[in-house]
Amino acid sequence: MLEQLAQEAQNLTRQYFGRTMSLYAPLYLSNHCANQCVYCGFHASLDIPRRKLSEAEIDAECQALARTGIQSVLLLTGESRKYTPPEYLATAIKIAKEYFASLALEVYPLETEEYARLNAAGCDGVTLFQETYDQERYKILHPAGKKRDYAYRYQAPRRIAQGGMRQITLGVLLGLADWRQDILALYAHLRSLEKEFPGVDYALSFPRLREAYDYKEKDYLVDDADLVKIICVTRLLFPRIGINLSTRESAAFRNRAVHFGVTKISAGSSTAVGGYALPDSETRSVQDAPQFAVNDERSLAEVKAMLGRQGFDPVRTDWRCLAK
Ligand code: SF4
Repeated sequence: MLEQLAQEAQNLTRQYFGRTMSLYAPLYLSNHCANQCVYCGFHASLDIPRRKLSEAEIDAECQALARTGIQSVLLLTGESRKYTPPEYLATAIKIAKEYFASLALEVYPLETEEYARLNAAGCDGVTLFQETYDQERYKILHPAGKKRDYAYRYQAPRRIAQGGMRQITLGVLLGLADWRQDILALYAHLRSLEKEFPGVDYALSFPRLREAYDYKEKDYLVDDADLVKIICVTRLLFPRIGINLSTRESAAFRNRAVHFGVTKISAGSSTAVGGYALPDSETRSVQDAPQFAVNDERSLAEVKAMLGRQGFDPVRTDWRCLAK
């Protein structure tokens, strides 16, 4: 039924989003991490160069990224309260908001009042993945660190909403467990949040596991046809929700997937700390150890050109906060 699903998903997406495609880019602030996720190239036991951007470096990164034309940015760190406490995140947001219209964070789970403070500093949204909803697999995949606390992470989107954030992105990392169970659990999580916090703008993301250093488990990998199915079914069940697709996916896959329900794609991305400003001898070693390999290396201009050829209107931002 894939063709039928794709056609229906396309119809619904056109109905609610027209032919627009939002664009964003990630900006990595730090790769310090206290967790041990066995599938990640940043995990705490790995002997890789670690770096956290200073205020001046954040400013330089923002300048370099803003020059490309990006207006919607996701600020990321590894999950380390010690190296990147909420105060550091607030400072980064205040610097970045001078350059960008819309800012979201992807960091460790926080308390409600901390989310409220970051919202007041100028952050609009938060991305937080449960990674997998299979609690047995979760324990195996997260052997140490605060992330091992499944319930604390599961409850974080409630705290994000209570903290006043406008936008919340949830997701699973496909490839860690049985995707059918994970996707159903993700939908249930989202439905419960929609009921409790109907005013929030929700989005879903389905990154697929790519080979990271030595994580070789292949039992749960998701192929292209199944990923298309996930995107289409999500659109059918949640007609108005945002669906994000990152540069983990290949250019060829993204060129096709934009027709089935995706509404936001990253472009011109670097997944290394300091990856946008001109590399110097200090940042080069960190840039050589990104969190995951980018699979679509096209620049923002190239992605915009691809969208234009396919009849889409690229949107750099659909949100600008005038109140702060
Ligand atoms: S997935 Fe996130 S929390 Fe886990 S090791 Fe990587 S950076 Fe740290």
